[in-house]
Amino acid sequence: KDFRNNVKPNWCPGCGDFSVQAAIQRAAANVGLTPEKLAVISGIGCSGRISGYINSYGLHGIHGRALPIAQGVKMANKDLTVIASGGDGDGFAIGMGHTIHAMRRNIDLTYIVMDNQIYGLTKGQTSPRSAAGFKTKSTPLGSIEQTLSPMQLAVTTGATFVAQSFSTDLKDLTAIIEAGINHKGFSLINVFSPCVTYNKVNTYDWFKENLTKLSTIEGYDPADRQGAMNTLMQHDDLVTGIIYQDTERPSYQELVEGYAQTPLSEAELDLGAEAFDQLVKEFM
Ligand code: SF4
Repeated sequence: KDFRNNVKPNWCPGCGDFSVQAAIQRAAANVGLTPEKLAVISGIGCSGRISGYINSYGLHGIHGRALPIAQGVKMANKDLTVIASGGDGDGFAIGMGHTIHAMRRNIDLTYIVMDNQIYGLTKGQTSPRSAAGFKTKSTPLGSIEQTLSPMQLAVTTGATFVAQSFSTDLKDLTAIIEAGINHKGFSLINVFSPCVTYNKVNTYDWFKENLTKLSTIEGYDPADRQGAMNTLMQHDDLVTGIIYQDTERPSYQELVEGYAQTPLSEAELDLGAEAFDQLVKEFM
């Protein structure tokens, strides 16, 4: 049950992504997985390296495309628990189309976004999560765009599990990832994971001052979609905890005939020349 490997992360000292890596490893062990039952698929960015730092199946994919790959893995092998991961630029800019459709499709996997409100790997440009007025080398006079709200978008797009956490809150983050893995459908977990090198605004101290735990809001009910939306708007999205969960809607694969039987990855395929020619003809 050991999800650690010998690869030393090359993140900057203090990067929030270290805690996310630890939380994934703990959560995977806590839910009883073994390394050969877990696949971690990542996109491109500092956070995209995470798939190489976890002892499991892994694939460091291409920019913004962690979700198409992860969904394919899950559909091909129902017996794998699949975690997709990446940064806010990866998932909420170039990959946003995939994120929206994965949320409405509801394939059973957990998508963890390490949200540092900046592009770190390319040395500090404004991302869709940067606040209006945010100054970087790509917006030296301050961003004139509004920040994107992935949590509000997820609630309205039909995601069945929407949660947010803070990388220093290892206990809560681990519990949320466990809940995401156990959720039967698509889970979006946005983690505030500070970039200590390039983002000098959204620092650890800034998050500590500005975040509200949903557990401190009396009567908060994650099954109440309208209430979730109202709370996000009231708090400018700066909340942590399970924001919304729909446990009723079936996952995509529950609706696919035959999925629950033999995994596609174990199906007997006739790959002879005749079968191949037939396949080519069908696609001509
Ligand atoms: Fe982390 Fe930022 Fe360093 Fe990238 S540049 S490893 S996001 S601290």
